[in-house]
Amino acid sequence: VLHNSLVELKGNIRVHCRIRPLLPFDSESDDPVLQSSSISREVAHAVDDETVLVKCDRPGHPLINKTYHFERVYGPAESQSAVFGDVCPLLTSLLDGYNVCVMAYGQTGSGKSYTMLGPHSDDGPVLPLDPQSDLGIIPRATEELFRLISENPSRSPKVEVSIVEVYNNDIFDLLAKDTVAAVSGVKREVMTAKDGRTEVALLASEAVNSASKLMELVRGGLQLRAKHPTLVHADSSRSHLIITVTLTTAACSDSTADQACSATLPREQTEAGRAGRSRRTSQGASALQPVPGDPAGRAEHVQARLQLVDLAGSECIGVSGVTGSALRETACINRSLAALADVLGALSEHRGHVPYRNSKLTHLLQDCLGGDAKLLVILCISPSQRHLAQTLQGLGFGIRAR
Ligand code: ADP
Repeated sequence: VLHNSLVELKGNIRVHCRIRPLLPFDSESDDPVLQSSSISREVAHAVDDETVLVKCDRPGHPLINKTYHFERVYGPAESQSAVFGDVCPLLTSLLDGYNVCVMAYGQTGSGKSYTMLGPHSDDGPVLPLDPQSDLGIIPRATEELFRLISENPSRSPKVEVSIVEVYNNDIFDLLAKDTVAAVSGVKREVMTAKDGRTEVALLASEAVNSASKLMELVRGGLQLRAKHPTLVHADSSRSHLIITVTLTTAACSDSTADQACSATLPREQTEAGRAGRSRRTSQGASALQPVPGDPAGRAEHVQARLQLVDLAGSECIGVSGVTGSALRETACINRSLAALADVLGALSEHRGHVPYRNSKLTHLLQDCLGGDAKLLVILCISPSQRHLAQTLQGLGFGIRAR
């Protein structure tokens, strides 16, 4: 009870803001004022590790001097390992049975893929071959997860991974390599499974027993994403990438096993398992999800899920002048990100109704957003003057979500 009330006090949604460094392409501005004057090209600054200052004193523009507060702000010099340091405790929560989601939000070029994966080549989102220090959250989390599992061999959950991409509100299974099926019109739907969990129908998942195997699958999925026939004329920043890692731990069915289990499972899990009752709430999935196994409804195993999400670029807000497939793409990104903002807004205000089903993105993330799941949003922003409008939009999203 004490634990739960602390969770409620702290809230389950955290928003961290990361300001990337000013990069060479930021200064390739065709803006004559910026080129000729000494006005700073940097408009977003980390004042301290909880505050972003947006300051723009460019002549002829409205003066902007505004601060935004987040649970954590990473300035341009902060390392990948500093960012990962704040993700680490969530992995411990995952092993304790909580559903966890880590997502990167921001305009294209703001550092989402860098943050989630690490540096990548311009030819496509491939994983870095660069030094260890550049690795992003996904490879680090993968390593850490298996390290934590190896520390407690008696618990030893089964680890499975699935990888999907959401493009134009359609779900593509990057593990099943179902691009052909996808192109020929097979649509994957999000549904509620018998045990109450939210699942994508017929989604491929693969069991993995090492970090390197998990990363191999992620790498394969990313390459497929880059070569996706539907996306041949688009780039990957037009789709949402979701990597789901599911941990399944055996629960107990008889009293001898119960004793053994209570030594290896978090207490709540064994109790929930014995009672055969899910702690699911109307808000979404619970931390602990006993999966009914026998006629008495006792659980055979409990599951916790980690979702790692690289969202589509948030810059597509205007649709004027856009036609055809680009219009559909833009409208879909806008709608799904607006749906995400609505869901996070409803969760952070503890509203009774959370509109998960307004888009496939929020629906398939439902179990890792609501209930007592733990969510970390990393809002990525550019410091550059030329991205000011998008930076303000992103900061607005972040403030609304927390
Ligand atoms: P997005 O995924 O949001 O489109 P990227 O992650 O591709 O953006 O970042 C754009 C560029 O900025 C890439 O060249 C990336 O390596 C670089 N970059 C982003 N964030 C950082 C950072 N914190 N430090 C160094 N380079 C970064």
